[in-house]
Amino acid sequence: MEKLYEANAFLTRFSAVVESCAQGKKGWDIILNQTAFYPEGGGQPYDIGVLGGVNVLEVHEREGRVVHTCAAPLEVGAQVEGEIDWARRFDLMQQHSGEHIISGIAHSKWGCDNVGFHMGADVITIDLNTLIDEVQLQQLEQEVNRYIWENHPIQIDFPSPEELEVLPYRSKKALTGRVRIVSFPGADMCACCGTHVATSGQVGLVKLLSVQKFREGVRIELVCGKRAMDYLNRVWEQNRTVSNLLSAKPMDTSSAVQRLLDESAQLKSRILTMEDAQFSALAQQYTDAGSVILFQEGLTPDGLRRLCDKILQGCGGRCACFSGDDESGYKYAVGEKDGDLRAFIKEMNQTLSGRGGGKPNFAQGSVSASRAEIEAFLQSR
Ligand SMILES: [Zn+2]
Repeated sequence: MEKLYEANAFLTRFSAVVESCAQGKKGWDIILNQTAFYPEGGGQPYDIGVLGGVNVLEVHEREGRVVHTCAAPLEVGAQVEGEIDWARRFDLMQQHSGEHIISGIAHSKWGCDNVGFHMGADVITIDLNTLIDEVQLQQLEQEVNRYIWENHPIQIDFPSPEELEVLPYRSKKALTGRVRIVSFPGADMCACCGTHVATSGQVGLVKLLSVQKFREGVRIELVCGKRAMDYLNRVWEQNRTVSNLLSAKPMDTSSAVQRLLDESAQLKSRILTMEDAQFSALAQQYTDAGSVILFQEGLTPDGLRRLCDKILQGCGGRCACFSGDDESGYKYAVGEKDGDLRAFIKEMNQTLSGRGGGKPNFAQGSVSASRAEIEAFLQSR
């Protein structure tokens, strides 16, 4: 079985002979005499595409052979045409090559190792066994992108065991058999079976998104190539919307949002002051009134609580405050100095389809009932 992707990562179409076809768990497992389909491995996800007119769903290496799991069977001995999903593969090549350059440059800067690598559907992550901060992350991003734009050709070699002995390459495990060395001259040398771009310039762009402490080191989230452009476009789109909504220049959106938050805090504090004055006036009105039932428009649960508290200070009975409307229901705050309202609240919630509770002498919640129904219930008590 010839692995065409090892010699030419840019091969998208190929002809092959079907050597075997067997029904497997997820589809038909097909083995060819040669293939350009990359099987999952070395942190790089498998290729998908079409083989002999049939969809290739997954590709895995089993006992040194590349197994294509297909949606339908193919005739053994038949000559078939294969085509890989190039957009997906090239994206994965950009991510994988970007990962090598980052890991290699981080290794030469800080002597750390890449101890974990994951290519997710959205972002890729690299785990380094050293601590780096935001400033170092920016330095790393600049050096990596400078290397990319210098457009170094990438080299792939299969050195002899003697040559391998003296090569300063990165590798996660002790390797046996034929070792494939992927070199980014001046940045990285690593044992890797994955597919890579031909020159560093084809990675295009690396954007390091975040760095967070992880185990004894850090986890870096990043995106490379077209995926970086797509990511930055989505962020740009968000900023453009905020910029239009606030009539702020694109580079001034954060200060415009800060102004809005300050204004909102000021308004909230003004509302609080005005409500307090109104609540005090109402409480005055209900001094020694005994039990009070009050409907007040447009109050938040917190406003209801403060109003009920104020009235309770002087009314001398039970106070029930409601805010809302007949369509969407009413929020309530009910209290009684030194009273025990638990049975009353339970019954009110049952009768008026409500929910809520609190302390024995003070409860808050909501009911799904009309004002007339609420009043009828309270007057029957
Ligand atoms: Zn690799």
